[in-house]
Amino acid sequence: MAFVVGSGCVGCMSCVAACPVEAIEDAGGVAKIDESKCVNCGTCAAQCPVSAIEEG
Ligand code: SF4
Ligand code: SF4
Repeated sequence: MAFVVGSGCVGCMSCVAACPVEAIEDAGGVAKIDESKCVNCGTCAAQCPVSAIEEG
């Protein structure tokens, strides 16, 4: 299981700031999660204002 950014991302970058292990980056206006760094804490999904991050 891994957390992924879906097509609903509006680029607010709240998740980038919230991730405790800096696994999320701005990939041209949308967030992108580096699965090799992600520890599956779920903080980003809880933080996203448009529920664009899903566990899948
Ligand atoms: S918090 Fe949600 S809308 Fe904002 S950049 Fe992250 S995935 Fe996109
Ligand atoms: S689940 Fe946690 S570790 Fe993974 S990208 Fe989201 S905030 Fe970062």
